[in-house]
Amino acid sequence: MPLLRTDEVSVSFGGRRALDKVSLSVEAGRVTGLIGPNGAGKSTLFDVVSGLRRPRTGRVLLDGHDITGEGPARRARRGLSRTFQHLELFGRLTVRDNLLVAAELGPGRRRAARSADRTLDRLGLTDLADASADALPTGAARLVEVARALVQEPKVLLLDEPAAGQDAEETGRFAGLLRSLAAEGTAVLLVEHDMSLVMTVCDEVHVLDLGAVVASGPPDRVRRDATVLAAYLGE
Ligand code: ADP
Ligand code: MG
Repeated sequence: MPLLRTDEVSVSFGGRRALDKVSLSVEAGRVTGLIGPNGAGKSTLFDVVSGLRRPRTGRVLLDGHDITGEGPARRARRGLSRTFQHLELFGRLTVRDNLLVAAELGPGRRRAARSADRTLDRLGLTDLADASADALPTGAARLVEVARALVQEPKVLLLDEPAAGQDAEETGRFAGLLRSLAAEGTAVLLVEHDMSLVMTVCDEVHVLDLGAVVASGPPDRVRRDATVLAAYLGE
């Protein structure tokens, strides 16, 4: 059974269909890619899965439970964490405090400090722990955004363009982190425009275009798919 499943999820904005019966599955221990052009509905799907937006129709299932009616905090406690495409750090807090605030949503106050320090270490952010979040270069800010999700010790991690603004070396290290998370059993759902990152780290890829899934499969097959090439005209 997949850890996370969306079942025919549809969302409309003022009569315009942003998601059209999107059904996809995310398995534990795998990195699942979600790609598609700008406006395809990727971030909207994350909003539905994380509980920030109710779908007009359809369901979200976590570990077999229908969580469609639950709010974001409840879902976080169930083990669902996300990052945002537009960084949502608390700019005036330090890096460590950003993690502590987030950790209280996940493992709770008592374990927060330990979880925060472990996560900072894992992401190579220990030296920046006391820096103010709004003083960080983009690559580091992206990592802090990921750290804030990870500190909640998620079973399912939703990443919305986490490598945007990272340089090649940071992206390479990040790829290693994603594979090690999967090896530990985490289910990772990755929205990313960097195709070489997607093709290297993903076990499976879903392609969204105009709110609908147009292709799914292993990365090398999806890359050759005609509908995928059409969705990315010019590539
Ligand atoms: P992606 O993340 O794939 O670039 P989005 O999920 O952000 O796509 O957007 C999907 C579609 O929904 C786009 O046409 C976008 O303009 C529209 N949309 C997203 N959020 C809103 C909103 N809050 N109000 C109205 N339209 C929105
Ligand atoms: Mg988006």
